[in-house]
Amino acid sequence: MAMETLKVDADLKAINEIQAVGGDTVKKCYQCATCSTVCPLAPDEAPFPRKQMILAQWGFKERLLSDPSIWLCHQCGDCTKYCPRNARPGDVLASLRLLATKELLPFKFMHTFYNHLWGLPILILISLLFILPIMFLTFGGVPNFSDPNSFPYGEIYYKLGFLELPARVLMVDLVFLPLAAVVVIFMANAVNKMWNNYLTYYNIPQAYRYGFKTILSNYFIPAIEEILAHSRFEKCGANSWRANPHKMLLYAFIILFIVTGTVFVLADIFHMHTPWNPFTHPVKWLANVGGILLLYGVIGLMAGRNRAELENSLKTSYSDSFLLWLILIVGITGFLTEFARVLKFYYNYVSIVYLAHLVSVFLLFLAIPYSKFSHLVFRTTAVIFDLYYKDILKKQ
Ligand code: SF4
Ligand code: SF4
Repeated sequence: MAMETLKVDADLKAINEIQAVGGDTVKKCYQCATCSTVCPLAPDEAPFPRKQMILAQWGFKERLLSDPSIWLCHQCGDCTKYCPRNARPGDVLASLRLLATKELLPFKFMHTFYNHLWGLPILILISLLFILPIMFLTFGGVPNFSDPNSFPYGEIYYKLGFLELPARVLMVDLVFLPLAAVVVIFMANAVNKMWNNYLTYYNIPQAYRYGFKTILSNYFIPAIEEILAHSRFEKCGANSWRANPHKMLLYAFIILFIVTGTVFVLADIFHMHTPWNPFTHPVKWLANVGGILLLYGVIGLMAGRNRAELENSLKTSYSDSFLLWLILIVGITGFLTEFARVLKFYYNYVSIVYLAHLVSVFLLFLAIPYSKFSHLVFRTTAVIFDLYYKDILKKQ
C-alpha cells in the first residue's frame, strides 16, 4: 500500500511576523508536549500550547488567530521553565496575542508605532497634535505656563446650553470623549470579528449560536467574577507573584474609571467645579487609593519581571516594557500634578507635568486597541467564549 504524504504549505511571511514580535524561539520546538502537560491553565478538552507551537512553526496565522487558547494563557512561564528545547512557548503565545491584536484592528501602522521604540516619538507627536490645538482653542491662545491664572487652572468658563464648563474641563472633554468613542467602536468591532472567528473555528451548530443578550446574561457575569478574583491567574506556578500586582492594577483601573465617570457627572452636569482638595474631597480620596494601587501594581509587575528574566522563565519584550512604563508615567504624573498644586510649587511645573499627564493618559487610551493592553478586552472575550463552549459541550 502506497504511503500517503502530508504536505504542509508553510507561510514564511507569517513565521517571520511571529518571530519579529517576540516569538523568535518558535522554531526550536520539537513537539514533546511537556508544555501542555505542565500548563496549569490548559483545559483537558483543548490543551495548549503544544498545538499552537506547531501551528506557529507552519505560520498558520488564520488558525491561530481564531483560537481563544492564545488569550487564555497568562504568560506564567511554567511551560517555558520546563521546555527541554528552550522554545519559550509562553513568550511565543504572547507574540501571537500581539499579532492577533494587529489583525483585528484597523490602522495597523498604529500597532507598529506602539510596538517599536522608534514609534514612540511619533506617538507623542500624534498626541500633542490632538491635545495642543484643543488646549489653545479652549484657553484662548497659547497659555502662559508660568501664570497661575492660565493653563491648566485659568478662570475661563464656557456656557454650553445648561452646562457651564471651565476651560480645563472642556479641554479634557474635547480630547478624551471622542478618543474614548473611537476606542469603544474599534474594540466592539474587533470583538465581533473575534467571536465570529471562534464560532467558525469550533464549528458551533446554529442551535447553540446564542444572541448577544443570552451570552451576556449567562456567561459575562461569571467571566467577570473569575477575572476579578484572578482565579485562573492564581493557578500559575513559576511566576505566581504576578497574580497579586496584576489584580491590584486591575482594581486600580476600575477605581480610576469610576472616579473619571463621577468627576464627569459632578463637574460637567452638576457644575461642581474641580480642582477639589485632595484632603477633604471623597472623590479625591478614591482617586488617591486608585493611584496608590496603580503604582503598587505596576512596580510589582516590573520588579517581578526582572526576577523572572533572571530565572529564565519569562522574557520581557519592548511591548511589555512600554505598557508598564506608560502606566507608571500616568501614575507618577498624576500624583506630581496633585502635589505641585497642593504644595503650591511653581505653576509652570504644574502646567508641564499636567501636559505630560494628558499625553500619557491619551497614549494609554489608544494603547487599548494597539498594544498588549488589548488583553483587557480580548482575554475577557476569550474567557466568556471558554465558559460558553464548555457549557455547549455539556449540553451536546
Ligand atoms: S514548546 Fe518545548 S515543551 Fe512544548 S512541545 Fe515544544 S519542545 Fe516540547
Ligand atoms: S505561559 Fe503559563 S499559561 Fe501560558 S501556556 Fe505556558 S504554562 Fe500555560
